[in-house]
Amino acid sequence: MIKKIDHIGIAVKSIDLSLPFYVDTLKLKLEGIEVVESEGVKVAFIKIGESKIELLEPINEESAIAQFIAKRGEGIHHLALSVDSIEERIKQMQNEGIRMIHNEPKKGAGGADIAFMHPKSTGSILMELCEKK
Ligand code: ZN
Repeated sequence: MIKKIDHIGIAVKSIDLSLPFYVDTLKLKLEGIEVVESEGVKVAFIKIGESKIELLEPINEESAIAQFIAKRGEGIHHLALSVDSIEERIKQMQNEGIRMIHNEPKKGAGGADIAFMHPKSTGSILMELCEKK
């Protein structure tokens, strides 16, 4: 049901300042940069084998990423699991007693359908279910 780690989300203050480490030093490939207005973030996807690193830069103060950085500083924000049939996976998690932040899938970066699980249910790790069609 869970296929792989789709990506690791990392909160950064500035994509421009963070990218050279990944692209020039680690020699990873930047796949694209996109603004997700609804989440108040600019997102850069960096390919790393079968998975990706997702750099998340806040574009306004209301963004959850801005609040995360204000509280804890830059760093790993979430882990995204690649799934099929996200609606079914959400129902299955709810049946298992997992608290979902999103009870319905919503649109994330790259046109993916996503839903977050609450860290209270996952050993304090913010986890995202992610389905790419
Ligand atoms: Zn993500």
